[in-house]
Amino acid sequence: MVTEDKAYKATRNYAREMDDADTLSGYRNRFLFPQHKGKDVVYFCGNSLGLQPKSAKEYYEQELNDWAAFGVEGHFQAKRPWFSYHKNFTESLAKIVGASQNEVVAMNSLTVNLHLLMLSFYQPNKQRYKIIMEAGAFPSDMYAMETQALFHGFDPEDAIVEIAPRKGEHGIHHSDIEAAIKKHKNKVALVLFGGVNYYTGQYFDLKRIAEMAHSVGAMVGFDLAHAVGNKVMHLHDWDVDFACWCSYKYLNSGPGAVGGIFVHEKHTKNKDTFRLAGWWGHDEKTRFKMKKGFKPMKTAESWQMSNAQVLNMAAHRASLDIFDEVSMTDLANKSYELTNYAEFLLRQLTQLKFEIITPDNPLERGCQLSLLFKSKGKEVFEHLQKNGVIADWREPNVIRIAPVPLYNSFQDVYTMYEIMKGIK
Ligand SMILES: *Cc1c(COP(=O)(O)O)cnc(C)c1O
Repeated sequence: MVTEDKAYKATRNYAREMDDADTLSGYRNRFLFPQHKGKDVVYFCGNSLGLQPKSAKEYYEQELNDWAAFGVEGHFQAKRPWFSYHKNFTESLAKIVGASQNEVVAMNSLTVNLHLLMLSFYQPNKQRYKIIMEAGAFPSDMYAMETQALFHGFDPEDAIVEIAPRKGEHGIHHSDIEAAIKKHKNKVALVLFGGVNYYTGQYFDLKRIAEMAHSVGAMVGFDLAHAVGNKVMHLHDWDVDFACWCSYKYLNSGPGAVGGIFVHEKHTKNKDTFRLAGWWGHDEKTRFKMKKGFKPMKTAESWQMSNAQVLNMAAHRASLDIFDEVSMTDLANKSYELTNYAEFLLRQLTQLKFEIITPDNPLERGCQLSLLFKSKGKEVFEHLQKNGVIADWREPNVIRIAPVPLYNSFQDVYTMYEIMKGIK
């Protein structure tokens, strides 16, 4: 739904003007771009692995140097003491996902966190055991749901209710989610959705889904892998029970980098909320008394089991320094324009036979467009690659492009268009 009055133009000059007017354009210089024939590639794969902040190296070196200089004393003597290293991320993450600081913590990796949170918030019984989720979720999430159901003694076929797009469509209707929740009512234990679907790029109305889940007494959780760092969210105000994400996609923290969780404070403050425990979740004040009897912290930190994986977290701080400087609203506004402009340009390419399966409504998508090719998809993908545009290929015939507001430009989008135009 490109607004007509916007009058986008398919010219490099126009793209340059858009870049000149972009107040975030300088952030591009904070990242390292892979090179193609001596030039920066056009990098549209931030939905898979975000680019490296130039400052990341310095952050790793700091920890290696502190380890060398202090040994075990680094737990307290390091520039950022390892004892409380996880606390370096709290304030930034709270801002990014719309939470208070006691509701978030950086720890583990995404799927691990999803399982840990399910152990707290998916506690089914004979009456209430169903999980409502989107069809076509990321495979790791499907496997997690499947084995959680099995773990509790339920048949996944019966326990998991998948909401699929209607025939011939690619997006999921919120009214269909609502209908399923109403239909299964007091059998629903958990509603779990990806914030942005990894394949179609559909962004769900998280507030509305949370309300629907709560209206039947179910818990609600979100996997925010593709929403964190590009959508404005208010997890606390939306009364979401829990969420988790990874930091190597839009949060640019490096391959396999530390994940993050959100747990609503109504649960963190409740000592009866079940957590699988480890010493780093135990009350800080008595942690080193090494006594029996788990006493959880009153914050999301109580889900931590182990001490911080410092060497896996250093780049996260480098990246969050950049997020601290920008507002999520500004980022989301730029993302909106950038993706709309990409859509506008792609629609000019009438010689190529593809359909954009990402929702038309800009408010219902993340910063990603998924192009479903009727023919020549692989050829187009390879042509882009050969010409220095890094996109992502999903079998059987989808190219995903993710113009990232923090480091992509309107000219990047234009360059992609120009290269695709060259395919006859
Ligand atoms: C990227 C992604 C994952 C990956 O999980 P890891 O545990 O970090 O390997 C899981 N779920 C979704 C929705 C993703 O987008």
